[in-house]
Amino acid sequence: MKLQKPEFVHMNGRLRPWDEATLHVGCEAAIRGLNVFEGVKGYRQPDGSLAIVMLRRHYERLQRSASLLHIPFEHTYEAFTRGLRELAEALVQPDKEMWFRTTLFVTQGHWGEDTAAELVITAYQADTALPHPINLGVSTWRRSPDVSLPARIKTGSNYQVARLARIEGRALGCEDMVLLNQSGRVAEATGSCILMVREGSVFTPPASEGALESITLLAIEALARTQGIPFERRPIDRTELVVADELAICGTLAEVVPVKTIEGRPLPEKSTILKTLQTGYFQAVRGIAPHPEIQMTRVTPATRRNKKAAGRFRDSRKPKRAR
Ligand code: PMP
Repeated sequence: MKLQKPEFVHMNGRLRPWDEATLHVGCEAAIRGLNVFEGVKGYRQPDGSLAIVMLRRHYERLQRSASLLHIPFEHTYEAFTRGLRELAEALVQPDKEMWFRTTLFVTQGHWGEDTAAELVITAYQADTALPHPINLGVSTWRRSPDVSLPARIKTGSNYQVARLARIEGRALGCEDMVLLNQSGRVAEATGSCILMVREGSVFTPPASEGALESITLLAIEALARTQGIPFERRPIDRTELVVADELAICGTLAEVVPVKTIEGRPLPEKSTILKTLQTGYFQAVRGIAPHPEIQMTRVTPATRRNKKAAGRFRDSRKPKRAR
């Protein structure tokens, strides 16, 4: 049965015309609903410009997510980049970096028929300090399996569980939480992937364990390869986290964040591999030590004012609180 568009809705205690009953594109109802999205990060370059990390890979993942949810996505890579450029130039502040959320909201259609979507880009100023080490817990909530809500699809509704895990973690004094998969092995954190060091090697679970196909992991893997550090994707048991030599979480927004305690237990200060990779990551994305596999796309031009500001903050980076 096809439903007809009504004339009015009742919203917040009063009748409103259908077309005026709107939610803001940034509210949680919208961003954690039927949409697919990407978070991309712009870093200040030595010439003062702002450049986004591995943008084409983010565009391609957005295409994959949209395709898996049968959402039409017509924007070319050039149009996508143009949108980011226009917003960056409108909002950029010389002493800040920026995180952008590009969201394809489903705005028309029902049950997958006549689906239409609109691309919205929002941007937030980000501070430039190094992330503080965090307390990491293990949630009682679990990542949904591939046959329910695939972790491979970066859709807002996938983050309902992450939100519950964060609420659970806050009560335990944990800044982030590990989500286990349906088999009880490590999948990922609420908005980032897990890196674990044991006996000199870095391990992370493969995406088939219930993790997003992370782009930051590709960067970390490339840096590890260049530095001769063994890097392997393999399943990780919950108990391995506790006996790990070093742990970190990584993602576009999280960046590379060291873990100081896991489930309330301090990690031994036995290994500095992830700290080395963290330094390499920041040096690559800020153009201090570029890496051929970590491509950077400029979205604001180089200016003398920005260049001066870029130099200033590079010299004065202090640890920041985890987000
Ligand atoms: N897992 C989840 C659930 C995430 O939201 C993110 C952040 N996009 C990641 C992992 C890390 O992915 P990426 O490195 O591509 O940002």
